Amino acid sequence: MPKHYQLSALEATRQIRNQELSCEEYILSIFERINKTEVKVRAFVTLLREQAIEKAKEVDNLVKKQEKLSLLSGVPIAIKDVICTNGVRTTCSSRMLKDFVPPYDATVVNKLNSAGAIIVGKTNMDEFAMGSTTETSFFGPTRNPWNLDKVPGGSSGGSAAAVIAEDVPLALGSDTGGSVRCPASYCSVVGLKPTYGLVSRYGLISYANSLEQIGPFARTVEDCALLLSIISGHDDRDSTSVNLPSKDYVSLLKSEDETNRLRIGVPHEFFGEGVDNDVKDTVWEAISKLESLGCTYDEVSIPSVSYALAAYYIIAMSEASSNLARYDGLRYGFRQEKDEGDWATVYAKNRKEGFGAEVRRRIILGTYALSAGYYDQYYLKALKVRTVLRRDFERAFKEFDVLVGPTMPLLPFNIGEKIDDPLTLYMCDVLTVPANLTGYPAMSVPCGFKNDLPVGMQIIGKSFNEETILRVAHLFEQSTDFHLRRPRL
Ligand code: GLN
Repeated sequence: MPKHYQLSALEATRQIRNQELSCEEYILSIFERINKTEVKVRAFVTLLREQAIEKAKEVDNLVKKQEKLSLLSGVPIAIKDVICTNGVRTTCSSRMLKDFVPPYDATVVNKLNSAGAIIVGKTNMDEFAMGSTTETSFFGPTRNPWNLDKVPGGSSGGSAAAVIAEDVPLALGSDTGGSVRCPASYCSVVGLKPTYGLVSRYGLISYANSLEQIGPFARTVEDCALLLSIISGHDDRDSTSVNLPSKDYVSLLKSEDETNRLRIGVPHEFFGEGVDNDVKDTVWEAISKLESLGCTYDEVSIPSVSYALAAYYIIAMSEASSNLARYDGLRYGFRQEKDEGDWATVYAKNRKEGFGAEVRRRIILGTYALSAGYYDQYYLKALKVRTVLRRDFERAFKEFDVLVGPTMPLLPFNIGEKIDDPLTLYMCDVLTVPANLTGYPAMSVPCGFKNDLPVGMQIIGKSFNEETILRVAHLFEQSTDFHLRRPRL
């Protein structure tokens, strides 16, 4: 018998509905589990124990009164600390926002509350979502549950670590250049970046608006599909969110018998220089597995992928420099004890003390790329690369239903190993940023282990066609056991 905290979201809500499991008991077991793992992993910035137990009691009351429950009734979820929660501090893991308490909920949080989910805490991340390791957090790093010396990936490292540590069955992250897929790969969970525009970003604290989406984490593809069904959909408060009919991604997992005949494209740039051989071998084995299940595959070339990383960092830093201009410590945010000097001096001091080194680096580089005289050389050129990349992907998608490759070029590395070498760290995003620049949906699925460390397979799909990547992931998951493995904690 699995312990309560080990249940999937679908199973937990079913048991609560059928009165096989008291929600209060379930949530208590979740916090007991968190108490045990948190001393080692440090996935959370804020825990909401009392509030969660109160909500659990409310769910139990509804069950007793035989009232209709919602899709996620009683299911615990963790939220990346970049997503605003009314009355609960939202820090972006930054000193700048360490005491910031939003007066409103993000749209995704509203949707989760309406669906009956129980928010158990806010998770650790790289400061302002800038990073791939969760090491730049003001609160200290999160550790990889598979090996506590290793990074969990980032920037949504706390969310992915909490899911594989069995603290929660579900979590939310945000993905600007890979921040859902990278930690999903490093922690061996399922993580999905939706198509640009599928999920409202109202209440997501911006890093680079033209690139980012909020995305789900889960231990199974089904749970991931369930969470996506709940958070997706049009929102008047986010003008980039599209108005499409909503989908039930869980039933779409099953309703198609075409899955096995899908055409998979394997971009050979995804297996190029800099990609670890262990990673390549593991992902090729996964592709062969998909072939044995009836899919066909062929190699394809997407030449502009080699320019994607440079274009991404110029665009992301430019947008960041503009977005982060609002933090002056005057209206809100970190403020030095004494204001000394003129306005500009006070402003500069607040920002210097409030932001960490990586955030400051990006503000400076982004400001540079946007400045008169350099704008054409950097920012404008990066936008042109973006258009070419989009065209190359469109061409590939004429031939293939999905594109498959590794999520990360390297296995999880040691905490502290790359933090002083930003360029090497940026290179780790080489395979994830193309989906953000083009807007296509992409996910990472556990596909094997090397040296006891997880490897993730990335599946990229056509716009607003999340059901197809989820189906490929599901097909793979159903005939492998990687998703069943757990770290010893
Ligand atoms: N690692 C990438 C960056 O630092 C992506 C971060 C993200 O997706 N938020 O920009």
